Amino acid sequence: NDQNIYKLFQSKFPADTDAVFLEHEHGALLYSQIEERTGHLVWLLAQLGVGKGDRVIMQVDKSPEAVLLYLACLRFGAIFIPLNTAYTAQEVSYFMDDAKPHLMVCRPQEAESVNAEALKLGVPHVMTLDGIGGGTLMEALKEATYSDFIEECNGEDLACILYTSGTTGRSKGAMLSHDNLSSNAKVLHEYWQWEKGDVLLHALPIFHVHGLFVALHCALLNGSKIIFLSKFTQEAIKENIPNATVMMGVPTFYVRLLDDPDFNRDLCKNMRLFVAGSAPLLSETFDAFERVSGHKILERYGMTEAGMITSNPYDGERIPGTVGYPLPGVTARVADEAGKEVARGEVGVLEIQGPNIFQGYWCMPEKTAEEFRDDGFFITGDMAIMDEDNRISIVGRAKDLVISGGYNVYPKEVESVIDELEGVKESAVIGVAHPDFGEGVTAVIVRDGTAEVTDKSVIQYLKGKIARFKQPQKIFFVDELPRNAMGKVQKKQLREAYSDIYT
Ligand code: ATP
Ligand code: MG
Repeated sequence: NDQNIYKLFQSKFPADTDAVFLEHEHGALLYSQIEERTGHLVWLLAQLGVGKGDRVIMQVDKSPEAVLLYLACLRFGAIFIPLNTAYTAQEVSYFMDDAKPHLMVCRPQEAESVNAEALKLGVPHVMTLDGIGGGTLMEALKEATYSDFIEECNGEDLACILYTSGTTGRSKGAMLSHDNLSSNAKVLHEYWQWEKGDVLLHALPIFHVHGLFVALHCALLNGSKIIFLSKFTQEAIKENIPNATVMMGVPTFYVRLLDDPDFNRDLCKNMRLFVAGSAPLLSETFDAFERVSGHKILERYGMTEAGMITSNPYDGERIPGTVGYPLPGVTARVADEAGKEVARGEVGVLEIQGPNIFQGYWCMPEKTAEEFRDDGFFITGDMAIMDEDNRISIVGRAKDLVISGGYNVYPKEVESVIDELEGVKESAVIGVAHPDFGEGVTAVIVRDGTAEVTDKSVIQYLKGKIARFKQPQKIFFVDELPRNAMGKVQKKQLREAYSDIYT
């Protein structure tokens, strides 16, 4: 009955009292300070009448204090809910209504509107936190005394609710237990062979699995220093990477580093590992990054509901376009609509089981029931192929599958071929309602300016390379694809934008 993940972290705090936890723009937070600082926050949570299992929502800029609030909630047994900083007042109000928090922590500039909403929704407390250690939360802490309290948890007790990115529809709150988080953290720490002396370069947001769990937890289990950047910029990476050994990023980070003429192999001399995930990493990016930095990016795959699911190997071959093997403890199968496993090499939906799988969607019992098979496997909604040796490739989302004239068209297959054409930077293939075909295959392309590309030249190029029914019926050129903060292409948005082109 002692499965609080905070205790696991605590057991790994370095003995050296000078060991740095977060090195940030305004100074450093030491490992030896975590205990006291979270102890003050724990005292405050108790003062506010927060109880075990009560929700604490946070929508604030990235800062060491925000990380401390997260750790304090774990320690206290409150359920922590970080929100994307890009969400608007209206969206935040939806999440407050859904999560029914006891405490909402927001940015000072939004306090007024959040307070008004909180009053309407019956949220008892609103406090503020800015990006540099100020706000009413920090004010209140000046009065605080230290509490050594750590809630006793069993593994199933909820640690966090993380809302999914809302790529395919309304965001769902994934309930994650202390066990879900600690099992995944331990596996990743070992699988990626964290070593003494590792330093993590952290440029991700802390409202998603990637930046909050994968990155922070691995470093915490290793007692490692984190170079904690408030956000990703090419300049900040170039300045700090010589002092780091591990970096985790979304594919867009790597694309942007490649765009920088001053990013080079010499800067990466000290680096041991580059990890990519959250969205597919293009093979071209993988290859170009290896040429420029000398490093093969390690791509892994995961989702809010399960943390990390698969990873390319640390020692074995990292193959671009694949996401590697199910992590130790994770069982994966590629199945048809009935949940029956398909032959190796065939496309189906990826279903998974393991200690990392979430406890269900918050306040959505029906949705939860729909996404699980009778034998306990969770239906990821991602289409995948599994090789004979269990290596997995993600083909795209089931919801993005295009069915044209009764044929299945996998967008990624078409995109990969289009992307090879000179003058194309990237592309998105979507299905758009079509009176004759059900859906028309539609391509949205971004040019890179190195060669002339027209809809005619694309069609000409695709002839003979892919079957006629897979070829786009209409092609559009745009300056950039719509992406969210994690670099995910927003295909729903594209489908809406082009919804009437065949009617
Ligand atoms: P929603 O579930 O609300 O529609 P979402 O699925 O985008 O949004 P997340 O949980 O943040 O929300 O993202 C998980 C998804 O991201 C996975 O299901 C998968 O589609 C995609 N993904 C993550 N890593 C990779 C990867 N390495 N390659 C391809 N896709 C990836
Ligand atoms: Mg999802």
